[in-house]
Amino acid sequence: MTTALPDHDALVAMDRAHLVHPVAPWRLHEQRGPTVLSSGQGVWLKDDLGNELLDAFAGLWCVNVGYGQESVVQAAAAQMRELPYATGYFHFASAPAIRLADKLVQITPASLTRAYLTLGGSEAVDAAVRFIVQYYNNTGRPSKKHFISLQRGYHGSSSTGAGLTALPVFHRGFDLPLATQHYIESPYPYRHAQGGDAQALIAASVAALRAKVAEFGANNVAAFFCEPIQGSGGVVVPPQGWLKAMADAARELDILFVADEVITGFGRTGPMFACDAEGVEPDLMTLAKGLTSGYVPMGATMLSEKVYAGIADGAPAGAAIGHGATYSAHPVGAAVALEVLRLYEEGGVLANGQRVAARFAAGLDALCEHPLVGEARHRGLLGALELVSHKASRRGFDASLGLADRIFAAGYRNGLIFRSFGDHILGFAPALTITEAELDTLFERLAKTLDEVLAAPDVRAALAA
Ligand code: PLP
Repeated sequence: MTTALPDHDALVAMDRAHLVHPVAPWRLHEQRGPTVLSSGQGVWLKDDLGNELLDAFAGLWCVNVGYGQESVVQAAAAQMRELPYATGYFHFASAPAIRLADKLVQITPASLTRAYLTLGGSEAVDAAVRFIVQYYNNTGRPSKKHFISLQRGYHGSSSTGAGLTALPVFHRGFDLPLATQHYIESPYPYRHAQGGDAQALIAASVAALRAKVAEFGANNVAAFFCEPIQGSGGVVVPPQGWLKAMADAARELDILFVADEVITGFGRTGPMFACDAEGVEPDLMTLAKGLTSGYVPMGATMLSEKVYAGIADGAPAGAAIGHGATYSAHPVGAAVALEVLRLYEEGGVLANGQRVAARFAAGLDALCEHPLVGEARHRGLLGALELVSHKASRRGFDASLGLADRIFAAGYRNGLIFRSFGDHILGFAPALTITEAELDTLFERLAKTLDEVLAAPDVRAALAA
């Protein structure tokens, strides 16, 4: 039994009345009300009713260093005391922003030499699109206007970036995608016709990119955007070698290759960046989330020297490149990011993530035996279980069962938070600081949750059908 804290009911009422939630069914949320989180330590969260929860999703795949890292709090407080704000306009800068740009150039792939610091991932993607348009206009190729991305891809929800995102809920009612935004099939082994054969799947993806570019003509295509592992599309893990093959194909096709590492960056898949695992050197890279581990908002758009110089030298001499925001390169965000990056490297956070990844993989793989689980997939500390009602045919569940919400609620009752996607994929991305003992707790609670869901008569009936 938990007892409501005194202001719980008042908070819930105010939320229902006034707070617009991101990517939520607005009226349904008003009826349901919020789950109010109140504190966190390590991988553990508490809600305002006193429930303790193991957060197997690091907030929204962002709190890579875990909650309660005092040195990050100190870095933010010190910067706020010293200089809480400095504009980047009018040639001003702050020391942490300059140091962060330098650090990001050091740790990202060698092709990337310039950093534009944003407030998050959507803004980083939006900046990337604007820079690409400017790049081609400034280098005498103004016809290159078409953008290609992957089905099931997620690239944020800015007014243009949401059209690179290929999830219908981000398009419906928003007049997207634009006529210049196109998709190729997701490299989704479990659901792809070539899924059983890694090389065939990679070849099919490369062929699809070539065909899509041919459809419009390379002179009209600007860029290919992709996540190295698709996150919000259901943790789609392509075969090793896929990213490199796509980067090489883009180069051959003379279109820019943009790696969106908003989720996969900063150790989530093992190395600092997923690009590192395959020696991929993108033309642009978008970053956020793990950059500050969610302690304050910040993202980055990394540019190659070719793209930077194309923009800089193609603009009329002395003319401003008209892209920026009040909070670009915010000193507090930058100070936090520098401390978070120190924790990844000197603090051993990345190394811990790499060390416990085998246990994470084993825990997910073991659940393949469960009657509800069709597939486990993972890389580093990013993983998923795909639930099916029939393993041999890989048949899913009827949406009318409302299973995604029921699984999430059952997990919560068992003290576990994970992502429960609408198509019955469960996503996991714990803090990179998680211990093996905490992973064992995670999997105990997950198995219990799956067993409870399986015990429901309508779920059993779906499996028997
Ligand atoms: N790109 C990817 C791959 C993401 O996963 C996200 C967010 O989940 C974004 C961009 C957008 O980032 P933000 O939510 O910080 O705007």
